Amino acid sequence: MSADSTNAGMETPSSAMQQKRLHTKQAHVIVAGAGPVGLVSALLLANQGVKVTVLESAASLNRDLRASTFHPPTLDMLAPLGLTDDLIAQGLVARFTQQRDRQEGVIAEFDMSLIAADTDHPFRLQCEQWKLTQMIQTKLHQMPHVQMIFNAHVTQVTQTSAHVQLHFMQSDEAQSLQADYLVGADGAWSAVRRSLNIEFEGFTYPERFLVVSTTFEYADHLPRLSYVNYCSDPDEWCVLLRVPSMWRVLFPTKSDETDDAVLSDDGVQARLQNLLPQAQAYVTEHRTLYKVHQRVAQRFRHGRVLLAGDAAHINNPLGGMGMNGGIHDAMNLTDKLLAVLRHEESESALDRYERQRRTIAIDYINASTARNKRDIEERDPIKRKLNQQALRELSQDPVRARAYIRQSSMLDALERAKAIT
Ligand SMILES: Cc1cc2nc3c(=O)[nH]c(=O)nc-3n(C[C@H](O)[C@H](O)[C@H](O)COP(=O)(O)OP(=O)(O)OC[C@H]3O[C@@H](n4cnc5c(N)ncnc54)[C@H](O)[C@@H]3O)c2cc1C
Repeated sequence: MSADSTNAGMETPSSAMQQKRLHTKQAHVIVAGAGPVGLVSALLLANQGVKVTVLESAASLNRDLRASTFHPPTLDMLAPLGLTDDLIAQGLVARFTQQRDRQEGVIAEFDMSLIAADTDHPFRLQCEQWKLTQMIQTKLHQMPHVQMIFNAHVTQVTQTSAHVQLHFMQSDEAQSLQADYLVGADGAWSAVRRSLNIEFEGFTYPERFLVVSTTFEYADHLPRLSYVNYCSDPDEWCVLLRVPSMWRVLFPTKSDETDDAVLSDDGVQARLQNLLPQAQAYVTEHRTLYKVHQRVAQRFRHGRVLLAGDAAHINNPLGGMGMNGGIHDAMNLTDKLLAVLRHEESESALDRYERQRRTIAIDYINASTARNKRDIEERDPIKRKLNQQALRELSQDPVRARAYIRQSSMLDALERAKAIT
């Protein structure tokens, strides 16, 4: 029997995939926002043959220093898209993370290799988020069924039961586009979310966060420093994060300081000198001051519109869950959207997206990051000692340390989401 006749009448995996692609070929999805969440969504859909239009208000991709940590499950998810190896090549593999005290030094060190059985990437990757978006843009540019439109400022969304209409401004000209579905990944101030009057419930912290980047080599001066260090302190906690070319230091500001004072040379030098006195002034590469919120959209689905990433939920950066959680949204959402487009599932699958990811945003991402902030800034000396003792004991017990790492690297959240029907 020839190989051909063996397969006669049978669907090979590749022909099944081809059919799935053909099914979705006529479908058109608009993605609002070319941040990491919008672009991961666009790539996942386009890889399956869906026509995708990405609308981005800026003239080009954002190159600001924002998220810089990729958690293990995010690296696992990006691997089949051909992104993880290139990210690793451009980042730093952080096997250890530390909880420190600004005065006492290391309190607890966690070895991420304890989760080697749970992930293909048992480490955090320290790598700037713009490297991810740039890599995805290169891939999308090679796909004829993907269009990326820059300088396109989304203003309004309308929809019927059959399609969604997105209105946007381009060079002072009002334009509109129609599609089957819209992914609203247009960030914290999402025009998509606001156009649909979806509440963004939660609060804004009174203090702002300052991030300073410097080429100063902290590892030469602070003993046993890892690439990811959360440093608690009753007066001014900080986070020291290594990215390939520099250190990023995150500080909270006092609520009565003006932006100008915080960002001034004197203000920045005072903070850096207070952390580690040096005879010379620190050379700084970037300074960013931003407001921090804990908010979750009241709905993640409104008919044919799905919110994801910062448009759906925002949180403080303690734990590095903003971008990671958003990419997890994109994976979950596109999986269901593809099933709906292929008529394999009804639209109720999209409600399951909301149930799964909104629950995680509230119970896990916002809860964990809020707790991380409470712990790192704890002022009560007795509570501080107790927290630190608990962390020490945890780090020395491999079973409990593994559970802690699974939780902080978002593996548990993904399992929990999957269990929500
Ligand atoms: C200063 C700063 C520092 C941060 N640091 C960290 C960190 O250390 N760790 C961490 O985990 N997270 C951090 N974050 C959060 C992290 O960057 C976000 O969670 C992540 O970028 C979310 O990705 P996103 O694609 O959902 O949204 P975004 O990255 O915000 O992308 C949204 C895109 O939509 C575009 N857009 C906005 N409005 C419109 C419109 N009307 N029409 C069309 N396009 C529009 C924007 O230009 C942008 O390109 C930081 C955020 C900021 C602002």
